[in-house]
Amino acid sequence: MGELTVTIIGCGDAFTSGGQLHTCFSIKAPHTNLLIDCGATAYCGIKKQGIKIDDIDTIVISHFHGDHYGGVPFLLLEEAVRNREKPLTIISPPTGKERITRLLDQLYPGSNVLNKLNLIFKNYRIDGVLQADHLEIAAFPVEHAVDTLPHGLRLGVAGKIISFTGDTGWTPMLIELARDADLFICECNYYHSEVKGHMNYETLLAYDDQLLYKQLLLTHLGDEMIRHRDQIRHPCAHDGLNVVL
Ligand SMILES: [Zn+2]
Repeated sequence: MGELTVTIIGCGDAFTSGGQLHTCFSIKAPHTNLLIDCGATAYCGIKKQGIKIDDIDTIVISHFHGDHYGGVPFLLLEEAVRNREKPLTIISPPTGKERITRLLDQLYPGSNVLNKLNLIFKNYRIDGVLQADHLEIAAFPVEHAVDTLPHGLRLGVAGKIISFTGDTGWTPMLIELARDADLFICECNYYHSEVKGHMNYETLLAYDDQLLYKQLLLTHLGDEMIRHRDQIRHPCAHDGLNVVL
């Protein structure tokens, strides 16, 4: 047990609506530091928040959309250039290593980044809990573009539970994900529009009494949510927000 700080590095949607960066949350705990997702523009936010990459032990990826993992190649490139020796674990749905390798080949051909780093790729399980260093992860399949292998994540860190829906429309899986979570970070891209694979606020309100979180934070807000900001009764993330648990 000990104090744990969640920093919102990026909470924008795919289009960085409202000028918010792509999805990335930092968790700083007594014995481990991690990132949840690292979207294409997130690397800039990591620098702005003064987070040292060398302090990051683990990156957990919710699904393979660019606004959730497109920043990983830039992070790895800099770590390779500055000869990082410390291990870095990347935990993702299956195919994470192959996809990140392909991204690096496209963006920085010939850079040989992966061979210069001590990277440990792990796939989380959907039939149990993955135990990593000072970290437990349960992953839940959610309702989003199937090709991206979308998951909601429930992390146990330093005696706290942090849940993140990833990108998803409503699914009863969210009840399980939210239960007793010290912080439940919920994607809420739209206010009322029904768009497959994403949550809207009116749907969330309809199910809210079934979601037994301790604290909620809405993220991935699109233009429609931003336009309705004064009608939203729940806390919304913004880049740079710190939540101490
Ligand atoms: Zn997505």
